Amino acid sequence: MVDANELKAVIRKKLEEGADAFLCLVDEEGSAVPALVTVADSPDLERVSVSGARYPLGKLLIELLREYPGRRFAVLARGCDERALVELAKLEQVDLDRVELVGLACSAEAAKACGWRKPYARRVHLGETAEPAPEREAIEELESLSDRERLRFWEEHFSRCIKCYGCRNVCPMCFCEDCALENPQLVEPGVVPPEFPSFHLIRALDMAGRCVDCGLCEEACPAGIPLRSLYRRMQEVMEERFGYRPGEDPGRRNPLSELGTEEEIKKILGSGLES
Ligand code: SF4
Ligand code: SF4
Ligand code: SF4
Repeated sequence: MVDANELKAVIRKKLEEGADAFLCLVDEEGSAVPALVTVADSPDLERVSVSGARYPLGKLLIELLREYPGRRFAVLARGCDERALVELAKLEQVDLDRVELVGLACSAEAAKACGWRKPYARRVHLGETAEPAPEREAIEELESLSDRERLRFWEEHFSRCIKCYGCRNVCPMCFCEDCALENPQLVEPGVVPPEFPSFHLIRALDMAGRCVDCGLCEEACPAGIPLRSLYRRMQEVMEERFGYRPGEDPGRRNPLSELGTEEEIKKILGSGLES
């Protein structure tokens, strides 16, 4: 676990070095909640959270950067926060020139539960980097099912959906002002569970090329629906088609932001793609 004093020292240092505010998590009545620390003697520093709790900080940064033009922020970023910020920058939602990432390595336990190939940010300032865990187990299990069985699997899971929008609300990559899931022409209001499969397909398609596989949606879902496996498979298709993984390469354009046929896009995006 990261030492709280170490984290406090890093926050103070970033403020001294010119950040106007540091976005992190603090403990409040047993929960970790986001806080913006703006001064080195802030009382928030005394309750800075070093638990394993996660929060879509990138989503908050979208608002903060808009509300405070010209201000610079530092943010505590796990590997998944960093991927979200990289992709949000490509989608022109955050300006990374005004954001400094302070990399936080996830614990071995968290890395095991996560299953991402790199459970830490590009540059780690805090914590020890853990070994990644195998990342395809859940998908392999699903792929071993026949099409009919897989349809039944999802139908069963989605029949428990209470349409709480928790998956969308927590997702760092869901930032649309007018969400398709609340468009009555696409999703009938007042119907619970929402129509299968359209409600969940809308979101899954929106997440293609965008989902950074942070798993927050699955963690938030009160119905225990394995959402991450669905979105993860979408990302695998992106990788197979375009060799692209959202959030991984800040220098590469997202293929879905290009218009054209698959062949034309592959040409625009250059080598390294499967033919
Ligand atoms: S894993 Fe879920 S919450 Fe995270 S980016 Fe993907 S869809 Fe959003
Ligand atoms: S579900 Fe789709 S439309 Fe709604 S906020 Fe997410 S990306 Fe936007
Ligand atoms: S969080 Fe779960 S229950 Fe809520 S809308 Fe999403 S899938 Fe449905």
